[in-house]
Amino acid sequence: MALRLHNTLTQELEEFRPQDGNTVRMYTCGPTVYHYVHIGNFRTFTFQDILRRTLIARGYVMDHVMNITDVEDKIIRNAMAAGVTINEYTAQYTKAFLDDSAVLRLQRPERVVFATEHIPEMVAAVEKLAASDHTYVSDGSTYFKIGTFPGYGKLSHTNFSGNIAGARVEVDEYDKDDARDFVLWKSQKPGEPAWDASMGAGRPGWHIECSVMAMKYLGETIDIHTGGVDLVFPHHENEIAQSEALTGKQFVRYWVHAEHLMVEGQKMSKSLGNFFTLRDILERGYSPESIRYLLASSQYRKQLNFTFDGLKAASTSIDRLRNFELRLKNDKLAIGLNQQIDARSTQALQAFHAGLDDDLNTADALAAIFEYIREVNSAMDAGEFYAGNVAGALKLLADFDAIFDVLTPSQKEGGLSDSEIDALIADRAKAKKSRDFARADAIRNELIELGVILEDTKDGVRWKRK
Ligand code: AMP
Ligand code: ZN
Repeated sequence: MALRLHNTLTQELEEFRPQDGNTVRMYTCGPTVYHYVHIGNFRTFTFQDILRRTLIARGYVMDHVMNITDVEDKIIRNAMAAGVTINEYTAQYTKAFLDDSAVLRLQRPERVVFATEHIPEMVAAVEKLAASDHTYVSDGSTYFKIGTFPGYGKLSHTNFSGNIAGARVEVDEYDKDDARDFVLWKSQKPGEPAWDASMGAGRPGWHIECSVMAMKYLGETIDIHTGGVDLVFPHHENEIAQSEALTGKQFVRYWVHAEHLMVEGQKMSKSLGNFFTLRDILERGYSPESIRYLLASSQYRKQLNFTFDGLKAASTSIDRLRNFELRLKNDKLAIGLNQQIDARSTQALQAFHAGLDDDLNTADALAAIFEYIREVNSAMDAGEFYAGNVAGALKLLADFDAIFDVLTPSQKEGGLSDSEIDALIADRAKAKKSRDFARADAIRNELIELGVILEDTKDGVRWKRK
């Protein structure tokens, strides 16, 4: 079965096929780097990671571009207040975003590109739009006249006719349901950073940045464009208007949007102040894998309510998965193959992939895994799971982890490597053999302090990280 995705443009579930061979050209709106991004933002970035990994698992090659919005009203305001250049101001938050993304195991897109490094291309795009009469100038700034683009509203499925004349908006923050001519090039205000251009010294508006960078790297028609649902209007609607006015071609084939991470019924957002950064959560002792799992575990088109109980449940689920993997690797099993279990492994693998293919229904994909683990754990307890069944079960876990990526524990700072742990366990065994129980207990306690838990089983010592 092929991957089906919900396309915001058609509002249908569509089978995904790239336009060109095996390569998927995908564009993601990256963060505006005026602050640390919060885990609400990371819900959208985690969805993009799950999408990427699923496409890769289906045999596609990614050409994925993500921008960093490093010039914008709030950035300019904050940099001016701090008395630093916008580059100095944004560098720290860009680094924090990329570091946090790595901690959450988000695969780095093939290209991460910066708005401020594409100003000449943006100027050229505005000039071209002006030459084809899609713009006007007011107070020195250049605006896109949305009345000149008949398809305006097609992504957000809003009929704006009668509501689009004249009104213009200069800021990067908008009211929903209110279509306005939007700024392409903002003229410089005193003290603001600016670039020279034929339209006058100024800087680009947010929307033109994405259109220009997407088309520069991925071509005039791209396969997939992603973002959170709050970007559908006006940001993505405006991206379509500019891009299609520039090229006369369809800009994006599949628009895929993630629903929000919520806190007590409200969107997690900086402006409401109800947000947690990744750093906040890690400081409370949760692992990056728990957060990743929580953000990935419900389907991206459903709102997800953030709670600490949810995080704890995520961490318990990860423990179950890791314990199952440990059993598969360490239990002494009878030689042979249980055909029924083998068939069950194949069926679980299919159900896992079918869940992902169904518009990335990660909840269904996970249910297939946990049902299987429950059954196989009982079969193991009953001695009905044989050595020949291990490969099928490990294959399922490997396919699972290629997408979810939570089985390997993150190294805590100052933590031990696997081989160091094995060496200490061997020392402890030696100490026990020579009846030096004090030493054996000391080693166990040392390991506990370093977050490693030992379990003495009939098959020897098993260990896991907390
Ligand atoms: P921004 O830096 O505000 O442009 O946001 C970066 C990305 O995070 C965008 O794709 C937003 O749609 C998305 N986003 C913002 N808040 C949330 C939230 N509470 N849940 C999910 N995604 C969000
Ligand atoms: Zn964008």
